[in-house]
Amino acid sequence: MIETDMLIIGAGAAGMTAAMYAKRANLDVILLDQYPDTDQQTENKIKTEDNYHYINFGGVTADELVSRMEEQLKDMEIPCHKGAVRDLFKGDRAFHVSTDSEKYLSKAVVVASGAKSRALMVPGEKEFMDKGISYCAVCDAPAFKGKDVVIVGGGDDAFDAALFMARLASQVTVVHDQAKPMASDNLRSKVEETDTIEIRHNFKVMGFMGNNQLETVLGRDQNTGETINIPAEGAFIHIGYVANSRFLKGTCDLNAYGFVRTNREYETNVKGLYACGDVIEKKYRYFVTAISDGAIAAMNAIKYIDLYF
Ligand SMILES: Cc1cc2nc3c(=O)[nH]c(=O)nc-3n(C[C@H](O)[C@H](O)[C@H](O)COP(=O)(O)OP(=O)(O)OC[C@H]3O[C@@H](n4cnc5c(N)ncnc54)[C@H](O)[C@@H]3O)c2cc1C
Repeated sequence: MIETDMLIIGAGAAGMTAAMYAKRANLDVILLDQYPDTDQQTENKIKTEDNYHYINFGGVTADELVSRMEEQLKDMEIPCHKGAVRDLFKGDRAFHVSTDSEKYLSKAVVVASGAKSRALMVPGEKEFMDKGISYCAVCDAPAFKGKDVVIVGGGDDAFDAALFMARLASQVTVVHDQAKPMASDNLRSKVEETDTIEIRHNFKVMGFMGNNQLETVLGRDQNTGETINIPAEGAFIHIGYVANSRFLKGTCDLNAYGFVRTNREYETNVKGLYACGDVIEKKYRYFVTAISDGAIAAMNAIKYIDLYF
């Protein structure tokens, strides 16, 4: 059993930031991650070199930014352990956390285990990832200025993405596989009244085709069985996220989609258990929001340790 003051689960933007804050408070901190993340459907990384929407500090690419954060963890001598968390519960005072090979006892825990974008799992989806296909319209929009794009999805997230893209793209087609989209009424009305957006209901995406870059979204009209090809240079898949929170089931409050419910201080309903970044119930999932969440969660976890230990 390894004992520590603060165990942080997940070494993404939120977790790395939380670890740095905890270490600066001179606490014993361990950053635990399941690297390599084998069951990730779509890798949650800011990949593009020149258009990620975060301060680039005069030319630092997204990859460099992440590796500099990792170097900083080393310089600060923050121990990074490898292991996928399987179980977490609160004992008398401290938290018991288990991976397949290790057990931890920690005064406070910060969960920063992220979420994965849901994939369609259709032919061509992996092949054209970053070659026209994206899971984040806000992240990749600038590359599609003046182009025809398709948004896949019928919920609020997809309709938000459609409105966002309509400011840049020349034509936006929203496709979804229901008779009526799930998006809220006001968003739906706004999308419907935007001239450059077309909506196709009952449209099942069957695959993606192109020649090195995406050229066509292949689909089928579910009512008529007709095959429909939509020419597009970009396709944004906005069909939801899957939270990496299975190990928290039964321990703290999760919403219907598995996202951790926290208050504005990033406290869960279990005292001493904090959650931050993409794994929590929130509206905007970006690098910058994850970093901010991580800092605040860690500050509050530090206070909790000061008060109760
Ligand atoms: C394709 C794509 C492109 C994006 N582009 C941008 C962009 O350009 N700009 C931008 O601001 N945002 C972008 N985002 C969003 C941004 O990447 C995320 O919001 C941010 O990285 C979330 O950080 P996080 O620390 O919460 O989670 P993550 O970075 O996902 O980190 C979570 C970590 O937890 C680990 N983990 C998960 N489960 C367990 C477990 N059981 N045990 C141990 N460890 C576990 C994972 O291995 C992972 O390392 C993009 C997202 C995607 C999917």
